[in-house]
This record gives sequence, C-alpha cells and structure tokens, in this order.
Amino acid sequence: MTTALAAPATAPAPSATRRWTPSRVLVTRSAAERPYGQRVLARLEAAGVNDIELLRGDRLANLRGDGDRAAFMAAKQTLALVVPPASLRRLQPIAPSADWRFDLAQGCPAHCQYCYLAGSLSGPPITRVYADLDEALAGLDAYVGHGTVTSGSAARAGEGTTFEASCYTDPLALEHLTGGLATAVEHFGTHDWAGPVQLRATTKFDDVAGLLELAHAGRTRLRFSLNAGPVAQRFEGATSPVAARIAALGAVAGAGYPVGLTLAPIMPVDDWREHYGRLLDDVATALPAGTDLTVECITHRFTPGSKETLLDWYPRTRLEMDEERRTTKRGKFGSVKHVYPRETMSELRSWFETAIADRLPHARLLYWT
Ligand code: SF4
Repeated sequence: MTTALAAPATAPAPSATRRWTPSRVLVTRSAAERPYGQRVLARLEAAGVNDIELLRGDRLANLRGDGDRAAFMAAKQTLALVVPPASLRRLQPIAPSADWRFDLAQGCPAHCQYCYLAGSLSGPPITRVYADLDEALAGLDAYVGHGTVTSGSAARAGEGTTFEASCYTDPLALEHLTGGLATAVEHFGTHDWAGPVQLRATTKFDDVAGLLELAHAGRTRLRFSLNAGPVAQRFEGATSPVAARIAALGAVAGAGYPVGLTLAPIMPVDDWREHYGRLLDDVATALPAGTDLTVECITHRFTPGSKETLLDWYPRTRLEMDEERRTTKRGKFGSVKHVYPRETMSELRSWFETAIADRLPHARLLYWT
C-alpha cells in the first residue's frame, strides 16, 4: 500500500527559520501577576507584538468563533497568557513517551494537516501559554522516583523520571516569545533533584540558538520531529524545513544534549523507502560522533473526531484519511482509531528497524506504534 501525494497543500509552505508573531495577545489578570507571566509579557513587547490586551479577570471571552475559516485563522494567530486550572498541575502519565506530562503551553501556531492536537483540543485553536511556570517547575519534585513508563524499560535505563513537555504544544515554536523551554531546561539542569530526571521535548522548529549555552547537565532530551521530504512539504505548513531541523539537531547534539528523532507520522507515500532512507542518511551526517540518540516511530493514524476536525481546519487537504484503507483499532474504553493494515505496518516496521540499525547503529529505538 502506498499513499500518493498529488495536489498542493492548503496551508502555508515551510520556509527558513520561522519566528511566529501572534496578531493578538490576551493576558488574564492572574497571568499578568505571575513573575514568569511578566517575563513573557516583556518578551512579547520586545518582539513587536502590538495588540496586547490585559484582561480584568481570568476568563477568556470572545474566543468561541463561529467555526468558519476566518475564525480558525484568527484563533491560530492568537496567543493567550493564562494560569491553567490547578488540575493541570496534577500530572498525568503519558505512555509511551514519558512518565509524566508536563505542559508549558497548549496549542501551536503551525499548520500540520494531520495535527495531533486536532483530536484532543476543544474550542478554537488559540495557543495558551501557561504563566505559572515557576510554581509548576517547583512542583515536579513530588513526582521524582514515581512513574511507570521509563522504569522497567531496558532501552531507557538511566533516564530516571521523565517529563514530557510536548504533549499539547511545540515548545520551540513559542520559545522566542516565552523563554519557557530554556527556563525548564535550566531548572532540570541545576536543581538538586532527589533522583535522576529527564525533561523531554519534541519540535518541528529549528530556532535552538537560545538553548545551546544553557546549563542543561544532560537532563533534557531534545527530539526533532522529522519526516520524508514529500510528507513535510505537503502537510507541515508553517514549520521549519526538515533540513533546518536536522541542522538544529546537530547543533544541540554538539552542545551536549541527549537528542532524539520523532519519526512521525510515518506514511507509506510513493517511494517511501527512498525518502525515509535519505532522511536517515542526512541525520547520520549531521550528528557528532558519540551522540546519545533515541528514535521513536509513530505511524499515521486518525480517529473519527480528529478527521472531522482536520477536514474542518484544512478542507482541501490531500491527506489520506480513508477508513476503507485502514484497520480499525479499539481502545479500552471503546475509542476508535484507524491505523494502517497489518501487512503495511509489518512492512514499514521491518524496514525502519533495519534502516535505523544500519544508518544509526548507536541509536536506541524506544518504541514503534
Ligand atoms: Fe500540530 Fe505539532 Fe504541527 Fe504544531 S507542529 S501543528 S502541534 S503537529
């Protein structure tokens, strides 16, 4: 089975290093009172954001939108600086990536036509930056030594308790406006922890200059979400080009960070072996000798809800989301997802396992899904 790519994407095409400037910023009262919120506000002003509205309270009004394309684009251009509900800081397990989900923000300014957030976010897709970062980081001590994902996995021995910062956002897409990832990296690098820990983040952006000099102590693993050229060009609008992400991967590895590849979403497009093979070759060339490298492989899948949302967001997309060409998997609570058929999965898996072992012999493959 192959997935042909023929028509132009409907989202903006990738270009060189991207720095998002939101058209509109909303700041809740509690967010403006937090020290980190004030630091973000200063960065937003320095970045030349003109439309910053300080709200009298903590409710974000006027964000319902009417579901049309203009409302969607307006939401994608809006950043809200908020304090999240306390429940968000009671961390949840997030297998298979990490022991705990640790959110710096929710939402992303990019336009991936398969976006993972489509099935999990409700309401208009504005980007919410969480202003309680200082307290949230201080609260992580309680989780050290707990968690079940990393422990017991031979491939992940030594990582300690892991915290995933990219579940609901792309932190590097926002970093020039927030500095939040750098703050978290330095906290992980310099805090006196009760045991081994690791912060994890994954990105489709390349703006890593602000991370290279940080005192990371090897406690942050920066992963780059990479894909075959035709997939990235067609479906990953407003992200950094793959070549720039690979260069950024090489730069952070050179700065001593443990790094990773998030190969996702893997799609059996025409000539997929050739395209993915070239991608892995380019990664091998970019990495310094001795790099601590992991690989996570995630094949494309969709749910009824994510398909509906994505077709709403990108009505002209050529992304294959044809239930007839997929196998249905049911989750514990009756949830449905459409994945590639068993034969396609085995063909992909077998090729990737061999290709990764050949081209990146020191990499540890963490999981395939
Ligand atoms: Fe969604 Fe990630 Fe793409 Fe952002 S970079 S649009 S979060 S898939």
